[in-house]
Amino acid sequence: MKAAVYYKNSDVRIEMVDDFPADAGEVKVKVMACGVCGSDVMEWYRIKKAGRPNGIGAFGHECTGIVTEVGSKVTKKVQVGDRVVVTHHVPCNTCNACVIGHTTACQTLQSTKFKNNYGAYAEYVVLPEINVDRGIFKLPDSVSFDEGTFVEPLGCAIRGQQWASPAGGKSVLIIGAGLSGLLHLQAARSNGAGFIAISDINTDRLKVATKFGADATIVGTEDVPKRFKELNGGWGADVVIMTAPVPTCVKQSLDAVGAGGTILFFAPTNPEVNSEINIWNLWQKEVTITHSYAADFKNLQTALRWIQHKKVNVKDMITHVFPLDKTQDGFMLTAQPKNGSLKAIIHPQEK
Ligand SMILES: [Zn+2]
Ligand SMILES: [Zn+2]
Repeated sequence: MKAAVYYKNSDVRIEMVDDFPADAGEVKVKVMACGVCGSDVMEWYRIKKAGRPNGIGAFGHECTGIVTEVGSKVTKKVQVGDRVVVTHHVPCNTCNACVIGHTTACQTLQSTKFKNNYGAYAEYVVLPEINVDRGIFKLPDSVSFDEGTFVEPLGCAIRGQQWASPAGGKSVLIIGAGLSGLLHLQAARSNGAGFIAISDINTDRLKVATKFGADATIVGTEDVPKRFKELNGGWGADVVIMTAPVPTCVKQSLDAVGAGGTILFFAPTNPEVNSEINIWNLWQKEVTITHSYAADFKNLQTALRWIQHKKVNVKDMITHVFPLDKTQDGFMLTAQPKNGSLKAIIHPQEK
């Protein structure tokens, strides 16, 4: 079968790779759509995770499709022909991280992947037994394959807000109005935020953020913490969500958070970057700093419900769709957004 194979952001090749059947406990899915994720184009990370050996590795995880094979020992109610959302990462449910509720910090979750090793920019993926057990959702008829690819990225935003909840009318500052910023914006609204401001250096993106429901926008070159306080009756933010992983934004987050507030560092800075934190400044403010990685089953289920019942608008975030052969274009557009591009989706069945 054909799959996109990662070498670097500007070198994504379409290659013929092994096509596996589904063994006894496994399920095979014909991939209909796979979203290009910001993490797919985090080059240092992707080369580490997927760039070996020789560019072969798992990437492409925001995946929907149709079940084409069900292994003889699969007891779950999955049938050939089912429309599904599948997840590459699933937790063990028994390690210490899982037991204390941090299922996405589970080593098993972080190392699970599709059997084909190429991820979902491929014609098919085969789900290992553990993924069949806890990584398949049926896609409701009213949700398109393209919309279904948002279950994972929205699930990640929902998980982040589990640790930095805006519920009860809290004020929220979202730093970065890219795709994850906009998903956080909509998630914060659904989660009960009272005031949401979003900042970005790109003013076109701020216009888009207004369309997706931001109460206020702040140009990233301004003094963002100061401007937020002006907009928020003099108070710092109850919740700061940083989706732009650069040191300036780390500093803005620390300066913008209000007393009793929480900062969610949602996007990681590069591994060699160290950020200075002045503990004194945070001490009497009783600030919580938190992080989140990926999404667990519950987060994904919530995301699917929100998409199905139109609590969030994912449809209007899809700006580009490419056939498998043009995966490279989807990558470049995600790595260097232009002309209002937000989400690129790959259709592996289209040539
Ligand atoms: Zn993703
Ligand atoms: Zn675990």
